[in-house]
Amino acid sequence: MTNAPRDAEARRAIAPVICYPNETLPVPDMSLYARARQAARKVGETLVPPRDARCFAVPAGHFFRITSVEGPQVGDLNLWNADDLIERFYSGKTRALHGTHLTTGERMWSSFPHLRPMATIVSDTLDWYGIDSFGGSVHDVIGTRCDPYTGNLLAGTQYHHCCHSNLTRALADHLGVSPDKAEAHVHDVLNVFMCTGFTRDTGQYFMKASPVRPGDYLEFFAEIDLLGGLSACPGGDCSAEHSSDTAPCHPLLVEVFAPIEGALDGWSRPGPNGYDRTHGWGQVG
Ligand SMILES: [Zn+2]
Repeated sequence: MTNAPRDAEARRAIAPVICYPNETLPVPDMSLYARARQAARKVGETLVPPRDARCFAVPAGHFFRITSVEGPQVGDLNLWNADDLIERFYSGKTRALHGTHLTTGERMWSSFPHLRPMATIVSDTLDWYGIDSFGGSVHDVIGTRCDPYTGNLLAGTQYHHCCHSNLTRALADHLGVSPDKAEAHVHDVLNVFMCTGFTRDTGQYFMKASPVRPGDYLEFFAEIDLLGGLSACPGGDCSAEHSSDTAPCHPLLVEVFAPIEGALDGWSRPGPNGYDRTHGWGQVG
């Protein structure tokens, strides 16, 4: 190991600065959303079976709610622009903008060159949890999604019901394409209800039993026309292991609510990002 320089402690003692101060982000009109939600009516639901996934459509201006039913269960959520699957949820930039875990008022942002809000969280019954003494919190954008490749790398397994495979099958089903084609669209998720963090001593990604209980929900406002994919993770409440059939698993309920006429007056779908996309090409100097 390299010897520490003489001023090592002084260098460590420098206070951090926030990478992306987010005070200049466009602010969602939460009271408008709340009023629209109050009058909204339910127009559809999808029950996601344990260790499996389903796709669901949410038109712009509608709300969708993910609810724990029957028992504690974690869900892996993918979002796509319904008209262009290339625009999809960007977990890394969402993390940079909002932090490691999401809650009410925060948004799921889309990939470049769009970088616009796809969905805004309007309700979170686990918002009381905060950050526990292990550094754990709920609804993370720091994990990826459980997948069979990592399982094979670490344990030589061939397991087919990881969230990555569940989302691949659900999207293939929805689009009527081969799993091969669908797989390319599956991306890093919002880990709904999952309780995670990084250990302070080794910096490793950890999970612990989710505090979610039946009846808890996370609800979103769709800013653009969305296709969603939700997997009921084989890890169940993720208290012990994932990537196997060992953990008790439960379904997750997705419900969609439509606003009434005029409820969203004053709201408009976010347009494309304002960067001109020339990347300095052809500029002198
Ligand atoms: Zn999973």
